[in-house]
Formats: sequence, structure tokens, C-alpha cells
Amino acid sequence: MGQDPKPDRQKGEGMTGPFNFLISRHPVYLIYWVTRACNFSCSHCFNHQRNNRPGTDLTLPEIRRVSANMGHIKYLTLAGGEPLLREDLPDIASIFCTNNDVHMLNLVTNGWYSEAAEKVVSDILKHCPDVHLSVGVSVDGPEQVHDRLRSKPGSYARAMETLRRLKGNPQFGKRLTVAACGTYNHDNADCLVDLARHFQENMGIPYYAGLIRGTSVPDMNLLDIDSHHFLRTVDTIGFGINTRLVSEYPFKHARVAVDRVVTHIIRESLVRKKAVVSCKAGKKGFVLTSDGNVLLCEILNTVLGNVRDHGYSPYAILDRSISRKAMEDIVKTRCHCTWECFQRLNVVFSPSLYPKVLKAMIFADQR
Ligand code: SF4
Ligand code: SF4
Repeated sequence: MGQDPKPDRQKGEGMTGPFNFLISRHPVYLIYWVTRACNFSCSHCFNHQRNNRPGTDLTLPEIRRVSANMGHIKYLTLAGGEPLLREDLPDIASIFCTNNDVHMLNLVTNGWYSEAAEKVVSDILKHCPDVHLSVGVSVDGPEQVHDRLRSKPGSYARAMETLRRLKGNPQFGKRLTVAACGTYNHDNADCLVDLARHFQENMGIPYYAGLIRGTSVPDMNLLDIDSHHFLRTVDTIGFGINTRLVSEYPFKHARVAVDRVVTHIIRESLVRKKAVVSCKAGKKGFVLTSDGNVLLCEILNTVLGNVRDHGYSPYAILDRSISRKAMEDIVKTRCHCTWECFQRLNVVFSPSLYPKVLKAMIFADQR
């Protein structure tokens, strides 16, 4: 085991500037699956096999060590499993916000635990005074479709209750963005545009549809989708329905423009099986699993090492020659996929795409 590479320690020098992340030597986007436990068993869960394997979640002291070994994190996603099943979730958020000066924190939940969601949001906003928090609640269709896909009667009603509580709580103010997110699949393909309109018109909440992913989900029929229909759906929702609703989000015009370019990348990957840019997985972002594995991304099952074996330093793992080789391989093979999160990262870190982003900003419908 080598010595930990030095993190970009910027916190002690005051708040990190909003664009410092662009010149960071280390990954600035962390997706952390805080637990594998889940109270649902969704038919489209790409993580169902991993979540059912034995393993122990990192403890709070272990998480503290991981965080202490990292520098600035611009964007942190806390997901699972169901992250609200961890009672120490606000402490986890607080550790990263304090040590790593997180600017944007994204929490992904199935929405079952409305009261806990409200309390966690309140605690995070209190303990992380500089962070912008966005909460994405999963909603995959109207009530019957959602409950069926989620294999959980009552889950639609609970998700809506969570959204209402978060959206309707005036104490949360503009530091909280609430969104509903769905997984586009064979069963709900025709429902999502109407669902997005419902959220916009009746609740003032944006809706995001991501394509079902993984090669093994509990119901394999759900993978059978029409690519062109998906792209039309994303266009209609993303650039027709949502654009007027993201006013709380920092740099919202840039965000909408980046998403336009992301849709172009997804189109190229899905229809032409082609990469538009080299993927920055591992270099600018990575995934930490609940039991401490460092993954290149959520799609490839590439485990680069476990923090428990490497002094709790993700950077030490990412610096191993095996990791460097894995990162080179994804560039050499022109790896491509439709996973929005890392494609957004790829746009942000690809100056060759900035003219496209600028053009999208100029011509975007900002009514
Ligand atoms: S709620 Fe999320 S983690 Fe849990 S089964 Fe459903 S998709 Fe998987
Ligand atoms: S293109 Fe997609 S699958 Fe390939 S490394 Fe990047 S995020 Fe992973």
C-alpha cells in the first residue's frame, strides 16, 4: 500500500470558489451508496444483485476517515439502497460538507419515509449552511403503474406525500430543490410525459426521466424499449416542461444547456452506439459503495479497490496502476453509455463541448 496522495486541501483557506473544481487534480463528483438496505424490491432495480450480497456498511468513523482523505467535492450524491434507512444520514452529509466543502448535495430516495425525509432535510440544511440540497423522489408512473413497478402497494401515495411535505415547507427556502425522477422502461414509456405535466401543473415540481439501466434487472422485459420514443420523451419533458421550473437551482441556465448537450450524447450512444467525448469516470467522478468499494461508475462493474484495504483513501485506490489502466481503457475503447449523471460530468469537463453548451444557452427557451 503506497502513501496517500495529498488531497486538494482548500477548505482551510475558506469557501472554495464556485469554479475551482474545474482545475482540481482529483475527482470532484462522488456518488456514495450509503447503504445496501432497501424496503423496496423494484422490478427495474439495476442494483438488486449487489444489494442482496452480504457486506457491512461503512460506519460513521470510517466515513470520517474517507472524507478526511479527500479534497473539495463539488457535487455529492447520497443514494442506496434507501438512504433514509441510515439514521445517521445527516451526520454523513455533515462530515462531507465540513471536510470537503460540498457545494451541491443530491439525495435520492424512494419517498416512503415522508417524516424522516422532512427531518433529514431540515437537519442537513441546518448543519450544512453553505450547501444547496436537491432531493429526488422516485415516481415511475401514475399510481397503479408506479406501485406495480415498485412492487409496493401505497408507494405512490407515500412518494407524493414526501414531495408535498418537502415542497410545501417554507422553512427550507431556496437552498432546497425538490424533483420527481422516474426510470423510463417498457411498462411506463407512454405515461411519463403526462406524469411530468401533472407535476408541473399541479405541484410546480420538475420531473426527470432516466433510461432504465443495467443488463440484469428483476423484470428483464422492462429493458425492451424504443430508443427513439425515449429520446422524444426526454426532449418533451426536459426542454418543454421542466425549463420554467428550476428557478431555485444555482446556474440554472447553464444546467439546462448542459442537459441539452447530455441529451445529444445519449442520442449518439443509444442510436449510433458512439461516444461523443472520452468518459472522465475515475478521473473526475467515482462511486463509493456502502461497504467501501471504489467503482469507476455505476454502469461498469469495475471494482478498483476497497477503502478498508487502502487506508480509507479513495485517492490511493484511484492512483493504483490497475485503476489508471482501467481509466485508460475506457478512453481507448471509446466507452459510451446513456447514464445522465456521468454524461453531465463529461460535458462539464470537456472544453471541446463548451461551444455547444453556449449555443444551447443562447437558443434555449427561457420563457
Ligand atoms: S428503491 Fe431503489 S435501491 Fe430500492 S429496490 Fe427500488 S430501485 Fe432498488
Ligand atoms: S461511458 Fe458510461 S459506462 Fe463507460 S465508463 Fe463512462 S459512465 Fe461508465
